[in-house]
Amino acid sequence: MQEAITFTFNDGSVISFTPPPPVEKPIDAPTSADCASCGACCLEAGYVAVSATDATPRALTRSPKGLGLSDKTLSRLGPRCMKRHLGGRCVALEGVVGKSVSCSIYSARPNVCRQFEAGSEGCLSAREQMRYKLETDRAWRGYGENWQDTLG
Ligand code: SF4
Ligand code: SF4
Repeated sequence: MQEAITFTFNDGSVISFTPPPPVEKPIDAPTSADCASCGACCLEAGYVAVSATDATPRALTRSPKGLGLSDKTLSRLGPRCMKRHLGGRCVALEGVVGKSVSCSIYSARPNVCRQFEAGSEGCLSAREQMRYKLETDRAWRGYGENWQDTLG
């Protein structure tokens, strides 16, 4: 139970109220129902690890070696990762980010994608980055209607 907060005004009147308990997530936290009109994590996730047990088509993956990544990131990724376009957009992502998107290999997407939860800290962070870039630079490669189909 939260403690009551009391204000006493110059005229002697007093008001008192008990604030609601803190919520762990914003009340408008996204759910999986929002994913079809989002796609932020598939653009902001960096290189996505693909494990040996994933059924992900090999042609959409690459070795992370030679990408200039840190040893820590290379260790996290393992032998293969999803290819990306220059803006960071995963090659399997279809549609317009922030409007209508889908994963072209949904049933064969990597395990890390399956485990990523809508409404998680990473989800909220990706959506915030997407919102900022869309607001500040609508031509940002990978976000708008005219994203460039270039591997990076
Ligand atoms: S950032 Fe969150 S809401 Fe958007 S697609 Fe990813 S999991 Fe879904
Ligand atoms: S494989 Fe599919 S779910 Fe995973 S990052 Fe790429 S587009 Fe998103």
